[in-house]
Amino acid sequence: MKDEAETIQFKGSFTQQEPMPDAAITAATAVLKHGRLHRYNLAADEVGEASLLEREFAAYTGADYALAVTSGGYALATALRALDIAADEPVLTNAFTLAPVPGAIAAVGASPVFVETTEALVIDLDDLVAKARESGAKVLMLSHMRGHQPDMDKLMAVAEAHGLVVIEDCAHTMGGTAQGRISGRHGKIACYSTQTYKHLNSGEGGLLITDDADVAARATLLSGSYMLYERHGAGPEASVFEPFRDETPNVSGRMDNLRAAILRPQLELLPNRVARWAALHDAMEDALRGAPGLHLIDRASGLERVGSSFQFLMPDKRGPWIADFVARCAARGVELKWFGAERAHGFTSTYRHWAYADRPLLPRTDSVLAGLLDMRLPLTFTLQDCEVIARIIRDETCFAG
Ligand SMILES: *Cc1c(COP(=O)(O)O)cnc(C)c1O
Repeated sequence: MKDEAETIQFKGSFTQQEPMPDAAITAATAVLKHGRLHRYNLAADEVGEASLLEREFAAYTGADYALAVTSGGYALATALRALDIAADEPVLTNAFTLAPVPGAIAAVGASPVFVETTEALVIDLDDLVAKARESGAKVLMLSHMRGHQPDMDKLMAVAEAHGLVVIEDCAHTMGGTAQGRISGRHGKIACYSTQTYKHLNSGEGGLLITDDADVAARATLLSGSYMLYERHGAGPEASVFEPFRDETPNVSGRMDNLRAAILRPQLELLPNRVARWAALHDAMEDALRGAPGLHLIDRASGLERVGSSFQFLMPDKRGPWIADFVARCAARGVELKWFGAERAHGFTSTYRHWAYADRPLLPRTDSVLAGLLDMRLPLTFTLQDCEVIARIIRDETCFAG
């Protein structure tokens, strides 16, 4: 007979985000009513929502320049193009990342070079040095996967010592900080996503920031600015574009005014969202601490992590047990993603699945990913939801086998 604890079910949805704030609906409605959705379609003296978003995002991050584009993955590929990464050039990236990162590298014809990931889910700096030497790469596309970041001061010192330009993938760190700076302010370029599952939601969308005027000009031209780049809200002066304007291809990927209108009011809510994610993440961590066989991820010092997802390790369990554990949790309404699965599934894949790229032997990463479980923590969850979810996970970790 099953006792009561075993039959508790979680009824919430791991993929349900919050509705749009009223201010976003009002702003979006205004754009729909006037009909000028294209960012360069402006009335006399109108600045436009896309430009305003760029200005506000530059102000928020403290970057000199910001560019709004169609997606986070597009922003990453644009960053590489703006740095003139040539076909077949090696580009370093951490092996624990999401498919759009090696995808962006492949999009410019370059070759991802995967670097080992540690048990703290961050890039292994020793392996970074080794791979930088071996490959001769000039760029590190550092993905802050699931919000985990190395000590960014240390990382930048290593990068500098090896002549690496750093592009930060901040899809999971927007709103967070590292070593006292807003995430994305250590590298030369940072890219963010405003896809529905990230920290601001416009369905699809991306942002790129930099302090480098030439990079900003090239990225703007690449995004499909035609010769209307002076209509951008946080771009360099027109003179900076001169040497690039005729030789930079238009790789169309602009953001439109409708999405920007939806995003601007959300940007104001970001600090509040980060605080609420921290509360959910803390609650989950407290409730799972000490569960048998389950290791929490070490909290990095100097990091204000955005708790929009939760990871834990089950290093002592074998694959079939974990597959079964995931299925048992799912049967009780708890949706866990496992990075050790044989085949890519849903949004979850690992470097071993990306057969278009070279897949080196990465024993440390493999052993981490084999026991790595992950779940979303949407802001529609309550602290009570976290307790129910944790209780189900705890029950199922006790399952023998
Ligand atoms: C979502 C995501 C991206 C890319 O974002 P899209 O807007 O979906 O292209 C890049 N890196 C990571 C780690 C992500 O999670």
